[in-house]
Amino acid sequence: MFEALSSKLNGVFDRLRRRGALSEADVSEALREVRVALLEADVALPVVKDLVAKVRERAVGQEVIRSVSPAQQVVKIVNDAIVEALGGGGETPAPSGLDLSAPSPVPILMVGLQGSGKTTTSGKIALRLKNRDRKKVLLASLDVQRPAAQLQLAQLAQQAGVASLPIVPGQTPLEIAARAMDVGRRELYDVVVLDTAGRLAIDEALMGEVAAVKAQARPHETLLVVDAMTGQDAVNTARAFQERVGVTGIVMTRVDGDARGGAALSMRQITGAPIKLLGAGEKQDALEDFHPDRIAGRILG
Ligand code: GDP
Repeated sequence: MFEALSSKLNGVFDRLRRRGALSEADVSEALREVRVALLEADVALPVVKDLVAKVRERAVGQEVIRSVSPAQQVVKIVNDAIVEALGGGGETPAPSGLDLSAPSPVPILMVGLQGSGKTTTSGKIALRLKNRDRKKVLLASLDVQRPAAQLQLAQLAQQAGVASLPIVPGQTPLEIAARAMDVGRRELYDVVVLDTAGRLAIDEALMGEVAAVKAQARPHETLLVVDAMTGQDAVNTARAFQERVGVTGIVMTRVDGDARGGAALSMRQITGAPIKLLGAGEKQDALEDFHPDRIAGRILG
């Protein structure tokens, strides 16, 4: 992720470093190039504008330009602005990166469009909760749209070495959610992960179903899974879910195939929801923490 953006920005900053002393015009020219690089990386326009304005405000001051290493100062200012855009300092409540501070069984609701990687991510999260937080996890698929979905989740649970809710044909998503929480309570699970059905596009039927499950299960975390490779569409999807359902965090998948990274940089500002985890491959351990400072470090290399 971010390879293209990283190499462009590094080019801009290398040129800046070679100049030694900087004029205001040099900084302005560099910021124009930064703006183009961010837009080419598919970062949302309002986010680009804010970021560049913030950097300009902080960098054009005489102190930066007159400092011993002005280019380095500019890089630091850009770095800080990127960290802020990504969501600031890392607050990671549990080793898994998820907030589990609720009475057991803690319900976690997984939502998102079909194909975003929701079911795969449910399995990855179960494995992580088991290994990092030492939690007893129950996985339950509420997807009655795709006949194979419940079996797929059961297989992923088996791979992760966690339990899955026995499949009872003919139940509605709300009935399955209620049964999962009931089993969770009776069998003393710490966490119940509820994987909802996805659709190919956002529609009222999907949103209504997810909202109803959320109202009933009252999840402590509602995690939206989005495909990073869909760029601005991922951001629009997230905004729609945030407005209609409300999410506590975002898991961005397929960052292993996304060289631009624009969605990651746009997500916090456009949706208000933090990115909590990154999916970086098909395997069950391919789930990464999201640390804004480390990501910024990766971008600015
Ligand atoms: P769902 O319809 O949202 O539940 O999507 P699935 O979990 O079934 O995932 C769809 C496809 O994406 C599967 O082939 C997964 O292996 C793949 N996938 C999921 N997450 C990632 C990821 O982070 N990176 C890559 N490369 N593939 C992923």
